[in-house]
Amino acid sequence: MTEDLYHDIILDHYRTPRNRAAELDGSHVHVHHNNPLCGDELDLRLRVDNGSIPTIDAVAYDGEGCSISMASASAMTEAVAGRDLADAEDLAQNFRAMMHGEPVEREDDLLDGIAFSGVAKFPVRVKCALLGWMALRDAISTFRDGQDSSRVVHEEPTL
Ligand code: ZN
Repeated sequence: MTEDLYHDIILDHYRTPRNRAAELDGSHVHVHHNNPLCGDELDLRLRVDNGSIPTIDAVAYDGEGCSISMASASAMTEAVAGRDLADAEDLAQNFRAMMHGEPVEREDDLLDGIAFSGVAKFPVRVKCALLGWMALRDAISTFRDGQDSSRVVHEEPTL
């Protein structure tokens, strides 16, 4: 029953992507990641409200890839929009733990990201589900390093 529901959620994000755009007004950082195992390609852009607590003001992804990779990136953008950078990194760590079959403390905060929990059973698809979240972690560290507006290309997601 739950697996059917999760399947529907993944399909919904694939067919009706959230925050999917090739550009983002005022973007501070842009990273490109791919997953050669599957051929997934992903661009991620962040606009950061750089106040006393830097916060994700807007996030957009674009790319081409399998339904798991694109739907997971879509669900990720909804889960992290409006969060401060450290909080978003922590949430990415939670998603990564879930993909490795480890306990997750912040299930509710993952929003639709929880629908990808079943993907952990298919090791070959785990990198697909992680692609967007790993790009997010990279975009945040790139922003922190002061490489504003840079384009960073990574051949494989860091697991
Ligand atoms: Zn894939």
